[in-house]
Amino acid sequence: MKQEQQDARREVTEVAPGIARLELPIRMPGLGHVNCYALLDDEGVAIVDPGLPGNATWRALQDRLKQLDLEPRHVHTVVITHSHPDHFGCANRFQRESGAKIIAHCHFAEDWGHSHGHEVSTEDMEAQRESRDAAERERDPDAEEKQAKVRKAESRKRAVSRWDGPSPWGGKPPRPPLKYRWRRWMSNVTRRESFMPEITDPVEHGNVLHLAGREWFVHHTPGHTLDHFCLHDPETGVFLSGDHVLPTITPHISGMTSGADPLQSFFYALDRVGEISGVGNVLPAHGHPFEELRKRTDAIKRHHEERLQMLRNISAEIGGGTVEDYSKRLFKPRSWGSMAESETYAHLEHLRIAGEAECWRDDEGALRYRTR
Ligand SMILES: [Zn+2]
Ligand SMILES: [Zn+2]
Repeated sequence: MKQEQQDARREVTEVAPGIARLELPIRMPGLGHVNCYALLDDEGVAIVDPGLPGNATWRALQDRLKQLDLEPRHVHTVVITHSHPDHFGCANRFQRESGAKIIAHCHFAEDWGHSHGHEVSTEDMEAQRESRDAAERERDPDAEEKQAKVRKAESRKRAVSRWDGPSPWGGKPPRPPLKYRWRRWMSNVTRRESFMPEITDPVEHGNVLHLAGREWFVHHTPGHTLDHFCLHDPETGVFLSGDHVLPTITPHISGMTSGADPLQSFFYALDRVGEISGVGNVLPAHGHPFEELRKRTDAIKRHHEERLQMLRNISAEIGGGTVEDYSKRLFKPRSWGSMAESETYAHLEHLRIAGEAECWRDDEGALRYRTR
């Protein structure tokens, strides 16, 4: 099991001077916990990424804070690295309970709805499902049959979760039944209204924050979301990396953003943080702290370059195709759907903008790509 998939532990650990790691439970594909970091100072505590909305997270937060002799009323600041629900969920609760100021990027949630909150790449989710199924088959000889049923249910769920409207890459996604569309629309409206925090202190690249008694530089790192940022303390070499740089998995890069080339933004942001000197302690939003930031940013870039090469090979083989055609060759059937297509689209658009692929609409209105 990958470290990002491990369940949240109750135990609070000191990971840097004046910084504690609080693991909060989440149930999201490919992830078992989210790290909330508590940055202590003379006035109380600032917390970074306060988990999912809801009572389970709130109780876990109270329990972890108590181990530091703190209560929610001591939280004077909440920092949100990016607009995904497992990172900002309980922010507004702190706002109500302690009047905490809420710090997020000035473009916070502008892309809300585009990324659908997906956290990890389709490939990582696929790998997780495969290894879980293999382990189960080893334990239980009847597992094969059960897994076939699960795969069938997954494919039904995927059909329902596809976009209601047409995607930017065209084609005709199956439209879910009206009752599902209605239910989803309702839950989106109520969810957004009830837990979206009010950002009191918007920040941008280059700003300096005073947390844990020292200065932190804001590094805007778009890619996973448009509003993602990381924090760097040059004094102690600590880098809070959010989802931008994770220890063993790669974040989901959606093609459904307002940016023209989210993958290029991600590459650029990886290069920029990889160049920061003196970082010796990277604190990610999922998984354990690690030391070598540059090694990891290089590996993540390599991973995407390999995916781009696979697309070039597929193009040479099939002589051009739709986003769906490419995604069905990149991923196994159980991963097919809007999320896989959105990632594939981001990679194909990157090749097109780099002048490496041509693109046109076919008679059905679907975009077709062919690499040069
Ligand atoms: Zn995220
Ligand atoms: Zn995350």
